[in-house]
Amino acid sequence: MSEEIVVKDNWVVQLDYKLTVDGEVVDTADPEDREPIEFIQGQGQIISGLETELYGMAVGESRHVEVKAEDGYGDIDDEAFITVERDDFPGSIPVEVGTVFEMREPEGDLLLARIIGIEGDEINVDLNHPLAGKDLHFDVTVLALRAAAPEELDHGHVHGDGSH
Ligand code: ZN
Repeated sequence: MSEEIVVKDNWVVQLDYKLTVDGEVVDTADPEDREPIEFIQGQGQIISGLETELYGMAVGESRHVEVKAEDGYGDIDDEAFITVERDDFPGSIPVEVGTVFEMREPEGDLLLARIIGIEGDEINVDLNHPLAGKDLHFDVTVLALRAAAPEELDHGHVHGDGSH
């Protein structure tokens, strides 16, 4: 008896998707140029709220998936609004409202930070993900499915053209 070919744990999923937030398509790439994403199902490589809804989908199947903020990029964290002294900005970062830059957390993780206000030498910075607090609306289509190779499971990522 052959196994049914649907999205399941440890299978490589190739997925076309469109992400809409607040009625606007966030994915700005032209649909013709957009690269489908590829990931190993069940390993938390994509947003958990989306991953959960993919189980059981077959190749060619499309689905509309609603993901609440808390299962997406998280709720807005009030403690992620911080103040940085102007002198603490490296010269390479333009200190103006709207500037997005990378900041390293004490634990070593890189965060995307955004300047949201300037009061003299005090610069107000928002460390929330731009999509934090937003409900996400995905339109997805499964383009291809295959069992992940042992080496891919070992490494925890998909081996595409030239990657290893
Ligand atoms: Zn690898």
